[in-house]
Amino acid sequence: MAALRRYEILDTEPEQEFDDIVSLVKSIFHTRYASITLIDIDRQWNKATAGAERREYPRRQTFCDHTIRGSGPMAISNALHDSRFQHLDAVTGDASIRSYLGVPLTSPDGYNIGAICVFDTEMREFSEAEKAVLQNFSKVVISQLELRLIARQDSLTGSLTRRAFLERLDREIATGATATLLMLDVDHFKAVNDTYGHSTGDEVLKAVATTARRNLRRGDSFGRLGGEEFGILLSGTDGADALHLAERLRSDLAGRRHAMIDNGVVTLSLGVAEHRPGETRDEWLLRADQALYAAKSSGRNRSVLAR
Ligand code: GH3
Ligand code: MG
Ligand code: MG
Repeated sequence: MAALRRYEILDTEPEQEFDDIVSLVKSIFHTRYASITLIDIDRQWNKATAGAERREYPRRQTFCDHTIRGSGPMAISNALHDSRFQHLDAVTGDASIRSYLGVPLTSPDGYNIGAICVFDTEMREFSEAEKAVLQNFSKVVISQLELRLIARQDSLTGSLTRRAFLERLDREIATGATATLLMLDVDHFKAVNDTYGHSTGDEVLKAVATTARRNLRRGDSFGRLGGEEFGILLSGTDGADALHLAERLRSDLAGRRHAMIDNGVVTLSLGVAEHRPGETRDEWLLRADQALYAAKSSGRNRSVLAR
């Protein structure tokens, strides 16, 4: 489940790349259907389906739930003659599925998160060559998922990229729940670069990111908005509580000795803004930025709560 969650793909919109893969697979195998499925705790959610509507199914009603328990392709030539599947709704009901070939989608660290499969109302055998073809397509699907992960992650600090972080803000706003945005900027960072060079500057940025992450809870989002400026999204947290967290983070960082620079001191200024009902993402960011500016102009190494 953790390996699957990491991809953040469950319940996302259809995407052309995955739709293209299933329609290609369907035409290569001449089957009625092809799907890319993901196995959640108790459901199968389909990222893409060719030949039928895309929807979700109870996990115990699916072929792919069995596929991901194995390591290689799982082929069924006649589901009616297989005691594992003859009772599935997909077999006994209107769908009348008889044959199935599925290959697990295996993450690089070895977890099966779902499957790519073809299935049909006709009985049929699948050759070794066909199994190999579908196995290759499972690798293509995983590559797509991995590329999306890489695109979301800032390579220096491991935080979310600006774009991925802004998407988090959009999703948070859509929920309508209480949330607060922290915007933080390293104080006098240019002096670090100018004195010690860019690579020392990079080390400082990594240290800032590590300290920030140490102070976050699961479910909070941490992103690099640009240069030495970061954002933290605190879901379910109001401005007053977020200000406490901002201060804890600030004093945690300021209290550490950073050996890569002479005096060892790195400080942050933070702007804190609780989301207001009806406020757009850009308005929210602007208020956090204004609070950050107030923290800078009133002396740095402090946190300011937006009005
Ligand atoms: P202030 O306290 O007002 O924020 O001062 P500052 O010097 O931190 O502010 P400023 O925004 O002028 O400086 C940011 C510097 O960050 C400028 C830029 O060269 C540097 N920078 C941006 N991205 C990176 C990076 O990836 N690595 C390093 N080492 N430096 C970076
Ligand atoms: Mg700065
Ligand atoms: Mg800056």
